[in-house]
Amino acid sequence: MVLRGTNQEQARPYNRRIVLDCIRTQGPATRGDLAARVGLTVQTVSTIVRELEEQGYLLSSKEAPRGRGLPPTTLHLNPDGGYAIGLSVTPLGVDAALMNLAGDMLGSASRTCAHPSPNQAFALIEELVAEMRALRPDGRMLGVGFAMPGPFDVQAMSFVGPTTLDGWSGVPVRARLEEVTKLPAFIALDTVAAALGVRLYGEGAAMSQFYYLHLGVGLGGTLMQDGVPVRGAWGNAGEIGHIPAVPGGLPCPCGNAGCLERYLSLDSFSSRPEGQSQAEWVAQVTPIFHAAIRTIENLFDPLTVVLGGIAPAELIEALVATTDTLPTSISSRYDRATPRVTASVGHLSVLRGAAALAVSGVLSPRQETSSPDRARKRDPFSNGMAA
Ligand SMILES: [Zn+2]
Repeated sequence: MVLRGTNQEQARPYNRRIVLDCIRTQGPATRGDLAARVGLTVQTVSTIVRELEEQGYLLSSKEAPRGRGLPPTTLHLNPDGGYAIGLSVTPLGVDAALMNLAGDMLGSASRTCAHPSPNQAFALIEELVAEMRALRPDGRMLGVGFAMPGPFDVQAMSFVGPTTLDGWSGVPVRARLEEVTKLPAFIALDTVAAALGVRLYGEGAAMSQFYYLHLGVGLGGTLMQDGVPVRGAWGNAGEIGHIPAVPGGLPCPCGNAGCLERYLSLDSFSSRPEGQSQAEWVAQVTPIFHAAIRTIENLFDPLTVVLGGIAPAELIEALVATTDTLPTSISSRYDRATPRVTASVGHLSVLRGAAALAVSGVLSPRQETSSPDRARKRDPFSNGMAA
């Protein structure tokens, strides 16, 4: 979906975001393409493009002449027009990465810390953000995006377990992040951030609809519909790890028994019986994994289920290799052009998605801010320019 601009002079800051967003999400374009896509005149688009070029967000290039007439100028994002830092906290520690506007990862760093408390995590985040900023000391830092495991603030499920973080309930996470990083901060569930990373830069780049299954310390999942993650009423629509998988099965810290992530998660993998090989573990969980895929497919009718997460690549690939023999579901179609399950390896999807959250949070027209005054002060377009 492309937002439309408005042909009113006072709307120029909004239109600037619309034009930049269009190139960011739809790729390089000429002034004429842009005008048609966002519903502005070519003249208005040309003025905005000139401003965005002066500010370093856009670059232009001319194609080689073909036939008569001047070739049109194509406008691209300037990869170094801005940077964002993706952050992720897990029961294993804190990770950070620096991303440019083109989605390239320029560096990453991690700190190991078992079940970090908020104070421990924010101290590590301060260090990691300083390290990431030092990679581009003169770069325009747009903001930080923070991915954390859920669920957020569910009183009846405020349990402590190997796959959850203790002591984070009621913590003003965004305010603390902005205090230690001095940058605008944006927050999402880890599985939502990873799904965004896959959608924008990974296996989901050509798909606006898919289901992303996140094999982390626990297990999460996010439906991406029309290119947007489905978050639920309270932002917790990702706790597929707590759907019932085995009646009367292993007790779960959530208070129930037989939850899916008691069997299918890094926590379950790393606490497998001594001497059990990866192949043996995969064979053991395959029926449960396949039942979960069947449930997901029957509920959401996805183009594909993308399996990713912080688990080792060979473990994700071994699970995906079992899906040649999936049980029947509404996804068993003769006209499929995509596999029912695909792998997304590399642990950077979470950090990429978190950084992307900051880029769109700061630059896109649907700016998510708590205070309009603060938004103006930090508006990356307002420096030295008349609104
Ligand atoms: Zn559970």
